[in-house]
Amino acid sequence: MRNPFKSKAMTDPDSTVQLIKRLFSENFRTYFPKYLLAFVFMGMIAATTAASAWIMRDVVNEVFVNKDSTMVYVIAAAVLVIFSLKGASTFGQMVVLARVGNSIVADLQRRMFDHLIRQDQTYYDKMSLAEINVRVGQGVGAARTTLDLIIVTLGRDVLTLIGLVFVMVYQNPLLSVFALVIMPPAVIGVAFLVRRVKQYAKRQVVSTAKIGATMQETVLGTRIVKAFGMEPAMRKRMEVGVLEVQKQSNKIASLTARTSPLMDTLGGFAIALVIFYGGYSVIELGQDPGALFSFITALLLAYDPARRLARLNVNLGKQIVGLRLMYELVDREPAMQDAADAIDLKVKDGKIEFRDVVFGYGESAALSGTSFTAQPGKMTALVGASGAGKSTVFSLIERFYDPESGEILIDGHAVPSCTIASLRENIAYVSQDAFLFNISIRDNIAVGKPDATQEEIEAAAKAANAHDFILRLPEGYKTKAGEGGNNLSGGQRQRISIARAMLRDAPILLLDEATSALDAESESKIQSALETLMDGRTTLVIAHRLSTVRHANQIHVMDQGRVIESGTHDELFEHDGIYRRLCELQFQNRNQAAE
Ligand code: ADP
Repeated sequence: MRNPFKSKAMTDPDSTVQLIKRLFSENFRTYFPKYLLAFVFMGMIAATTAASAWIMRDVVNEVFVNKDSTMVYVIAAAVLVIFSLKGASTFGQMVVLARVGNSIVADLQRRMFDHLIRQDQTYYDKMSLAEINVRVGQGVGAARTTLDLIIVTLGRDVLTLIGLVFVMVYQNPLLSVFALVIMPPAVIGVAFLVRRVKQYAKRQVVSTAKIGATMQETVLGTRIVKAFGMEPAMRKRMEVGVLEVQKQSNKIASLTARTSPLMDTLGGFAIALVIFYGGYSVIELGQDPGALFSFITALLLAYDPARRLARLNVNLGKQIVGLRLMYELVDREPAMQDAADAIDLKVKDGKIEFRDVVFGYGESAALSGTSFTAQPGKMTALVGASGAGKSTVFSLIERFYDPESGEILIDGHAVPSCTIASLRENIAYVSQDAFLFNISIRDNIAVGKPDATQEEIEAAAKAANAHDFILRLPEGYKTKAGEGGNNLSGGQRQRISIARAMLRDAPILLLDEATSALDAESESKIQSALETLMDGRTTLVIAHRLSTVRHANQIHVMDQGRVIESGTHDELFEHDGIYRRLCELQFQNRNQAAE
């Protein structure tokens, strides 16, 4: 299997700073007033924390050493005020940052969806749903966490540290130097951990996508999974992904946790050193015990923010992979866009012409010089073996892809010279699988014309022979179609998609006839619905049934990406070529089925 994440996101190790800078430049300005407010709260947290250490000097000197009873009240009241203020500021900071975070997440989700929906078909051919899910889900989560981490750590923790260091230096400059000896080993230790965390985070993302893919296939293919007893195989596939994610998560957890013993040991060492020397200077040298106490309090309080600061890089390392994946998606401009001088296509007759069109999805050619014409207002059928290139012809008319060479003309206008939206507005497409969205039947039909009235929708449904069965559904037009239209039979789905095309009322109709066998009643209903639909439109149909082909004004027989025979049914049958063989094959199958 292709590794879906073998992309720049995984291999470019140096752009961490760039990514974070970009994240900030995109979001910081928009939310500047709110961030400013959060910073004010954080400043208050820092100031109150420093004050709580500061006041320890008076607690010790006035209360315990001087035994001043009035000061007890003053100091107790001051402590109460300091801590209440700290609580209130923490509340304010958390609420403000959470709101900013939520709105950044909402913004990014909108942006990413907008990008996804603009991508061309080539993109979706390459991407799995699971990969897109991982990119969107993890990417957005990573963006939020990164911003929170950086702002809280650099704002609250750094400000708090500054306040506390100020208290420490003021109370005892020499001891402050002792406390800093742990800095260099802490920095080196953390840098080592960061590198490894990034590696594991990368593997974790790949395996998460694998889990997603297995889940998706199991759900989508549930009938096949059950019918062929594939449960153990799917479980095994799942197990591989799950175990891998578990393994990587455990490794990341133990690496992240390793910052704790690292910092605790180093911190303990510094505190022991301070107590040792500080105790000595109070006991032997008669220095101020309140100052020492205040110093130690500040040091202990500084410990937590310092540890978070040290961990910042490790925690960012975990997020950076998600952030890269997200930006890769956001940065991908769709390859196919309207030309600067594109015109709005207004189809009059609806003549479609293919002139020597060459196209391939990858290495091998799907169309290798296809030429044919579909006459205006007439029905043209494409027939040929599976893989001959019939669906590709449709995809090129809809401009899901651009041909490598040759021309496709609609009423004499080259397809790429028209805006994509106007081109598609002129086409109604009935797909073979009759895909329905899990919304109401009414809304599924309204896809053809979003502003349609109920009367128009019902008229379309009647013309498609769908109205009666819709009324018999539990909630009529409001009944949900189920995932992919699961709540309806194949024939019903087709009639809904015919109604959709009917409502669109476009001059060109692309009809991919269903191959799946239908009961005689459904088939005749669908046939008569299609006849109504085709009336007066240029219809190009991928025909699988003789009944359809016979009606066609013109038939083009395709083989290996080329049109090799053209004519009416009678002409082609006379000719004794591929078409005749296809017909004979179908007759044979039919007769066998009838026997
Ligand atoms: P038909 O509709 O006549 O069965 P298609 O137009 O679907 O034929 O396919 C023509 C050729 O292009 C086939 O060889 C098929 O395997 C290939 N093909 C079709 N769709 C894709 C795709 N999305 N990616 C790669 N190859 C494709």
